[in-house]
Parts: sequence; C-alpha cells; structure tokens
Amino acid sequence: MSFHLSNIFKKITCLPSGDIPKGYKTLTGFILDALFPPQCIPCGKKLPHSARFSTICEECFARIPIRSGFSCAECARRLPALVNTCHKGTPAIAAATDFKNKEAQALIHALKYNSIRDAAPPLAEILNRYIAQYLPAGTHPALAIVPIPLHPKRMRSRGFNQSELLAVELAKLDTRIALHTTALTRTRATASQTAVPTHDKRRENVKDAFTAYNSNEIEGQLFILDDVCTSGGTITEAMRALRAKGMRKSAGLVVARA
Ligand SMILES: [Zn+2]
Ligand SMILES: [Zn+2]
Repeated sequence: MSFHLSNIFKKITCLPSGDIPKGYKTLTGFILDALFPPQCIPCGKKLPHSARFSTICEECFARIPIRSGFSCAECARRLPALVNTCHKGTPAIAAATDFKNKEAQALIHALKYNSIRDAAPPLAEILNRYIAQYLPAGTHPALAIVPIPLHPKRMRSRGFNQSELLAVELAKLDTRIALHTTALTRTRATASQTAVPTHDKRRENVKDAFTAYNSNEIEGQLFILDDVCTSGGTITEAMRALRAKGMRKSAGLVVARA
C-alpha cells in the first residue's frame, strides 16, 4: 500500500483541498510530486504526470471488472430489473464492481481508511461505466443521488465523506445526475458495519441511524450511494428513512458489492 504525501500535507495544514489557494497547491503539489511521484496504489508503480489517474495505473485500472445488472440487497440474488422482487421492503442494488477484485478493494481502502481523496476519481469512473451500460439515458433520463451521510463525529475524524466525494466525482462525468446531499443525515453514531460479525447484528447496528428531509425537487430514479455494500443493511435503513418522509422507493448504488 503506497501513501500520498500531498494528502498528508493537506492533513498537516488542516486545509480541505478546496481551500488551498490554487498557486500554492500547484507549487507544493509540484515539489511533492517531483520528490515523491504519485504511485499506483494496487501495484506500487510510479505514475507519470500525464497519467489519467494519480492513484492507479492503466494496467491495474483495466483489471477492475464491471459487474452486470442488479441484485437483491438482502440475499444478493440477481434481479431482472431495478425493482426488488426478491426480498420486498429492501432495495435493489446496482453495484459497479466486485469487492473481491483486489485493485478496486485497494482504492476503496485508500479512500476510506487512508483518506486519499485522489482514489475517488477512478472509482467514480467505474461507477460511470456501469451506469452507462445498465442505466442508459434512454430508460433513465434523470438520476438523483443521495450519498450515505457520515455521523458528524466520524466526519470530523476523517475530514470528508467518501460517499459524497464519490457522488461529486460521478456527477462530473454524467450530466443526468442531480446530487441531494442534505436529504439524509446520520443522527446516530454506529460502529463500522465491517466490525459487526453477523447479518442480524448489522441490521441492529444501523437501525434508526438516519433521518430524512423531504425534498420535492427529486426527479428521476433515486439512488442511495455508498462505497461498498456488504449485507445491504445500511442502504436498506437509509431507504426506510427516505420512505418515511414520502420519498419514492429508492435503489442502492455502490462501487463494489462484497
Ligand atoms: Zn498498477
Ligand atoms: Zn433476496
């Protein structure tokens, strides 16, 4: 696992990347890149300045497969359409790739646990490719995205919400997307789902964790976006909160399904 010095620099200076004055950022970025060129997170290879992504090489990126179709949030069974006809009351999940893929896993890990924001653009590109194939403009002219929110406490320790960052990067790639970042808030701090051992305990862990705010502007297919779907519990609970406020049945959109 490589590390990105420019990220550490942002952390030390306590500036969210957006607040760093442009020339300053370019200069420090230039010096840091010259001293420590960006590396591909999965394979460690040094990346040239002209590289499309600063966190993954083209060879590793090409090894991330695009998953097909939709699946049930509860049991992961394949669904013929974006409606959950298997376990009703749980959303259908649109997953762009497989969490077993080690390149995708390395990028998600870097984004989530090492706060490497530059891991988001290639993951958004994977989402974009999946959407172009399985949610084409002909059948889905508008896509509304609600990212899974972080509890304010976790937001303070991580510095950013990885799901929101993925949504922002994805919206840059697809003009059909409208972001709704205030439709949902996390009102209860929960343990990380990966730290909870069983399916039932995971469901209990996220119970009543979210509060939704009705948004009349939501148009088109509504998606709850998360980085990874493990047991489907987080997205199911977020959907429950949105429905309680009268928002139409939503589906889950995730980078990877475990
Ligand atoms: Zn690589
Ligand atoms: Zn099912």
